[in-house]
Amino acid sequence: MDNIMEENPSEMADMDKKHARRNEISENIAIVQMRIEAACLRSHRDPSEVTLIAVSKTKPVDDLLAAMDAGMTYFGENKVQELTMKMDTIGDRVHWHMIGHLQKNKVKYIVGRVDLIHSVDSLDLAVKIQSEAEKRSVISNILVEVNMAEEESKFGATAGEAIALVEEIAQLPNIRIQGLMTIAPFTDVPEENRVYFRNLKKLAVDIKSKNIDNVTMSILSMGMTGDYEVAIEEGATMVRVGTGIFGERNYL
Ligand SMILES: *Cc1c(COP(=O)(O)O)cnc(C)c1O
Repeated sequence: MDNIMEENPSEMADMDKKHARRNEISENIAIVQMRIEAACLRSHRDPSEVTLIAVSKTKPVDDLLAAMDAGMTYFGENKVQELTMKMDTIGDRVHWHMIGHLQKNKVKYIVGRVDLIHSVDSLDLAVKIQSEAEKRSVISNILVEVNMAEEESKFGATAGEAIALVEEIAQLPNIRIQGLMTIAPFTDVPEENRVYFRNLKKLAVDIKSKNIDNVTMSILSMGMTGDYEVAIEEGATMVRVGTGIFGERNYL
């Protein structure tokens, strides 16, 4: 009896904490969704054109479950090991997207399991995806990552290289290029990134006009917590939001 009395308060505190965390995530999602709608209104776009990807990297499975209960169905991860662990735990009730730099030796763990790879930045990587997709008799949907600001620290083809890269990857029969992705520079002033989003859209329009087999430009993955509203105003169809939904990340 004594034991139960002693244990209860801490159990209650845990329950309260879990409840508070779930509320926090669901409120954050509602705020992001409102901002997405407002950005769509400003730019005369239909909110249904914009898919919100919940970027759950470093966050525990419980956080993803909370986001799912709040309506999220698209999750983005940037590390293969973490992604596969979460896919194994949660399953295919949601769409899984690989958004981070992908090493060739890890391709085999995700081909046929993720709906979209956002971060294809070289022909070598695409060839590896092709061979794994062929082995499994699947089609891999990918985006070509473009480093619009040409930052040294970032992966991605330059805008100048992108068209040739798309044309080469398009030859690979088990790959469908669905669009382009960019990671804009980190900034406190989202307006500074508008030019990169606008230019990625222009590049997509250019590529689309070439009518390349196996290539659509239906997806523009651009915009993160700091700049997704500007990205939407410039034509984003997927925004990748982590901090805005789950809060700051603690890297251990
Ligand atoms: C981490 C990450 C995001 C989300 O970043 P936030 O600023 O937390 O929204 C988006 N895209 C990629 C590729 C990422 O690695």
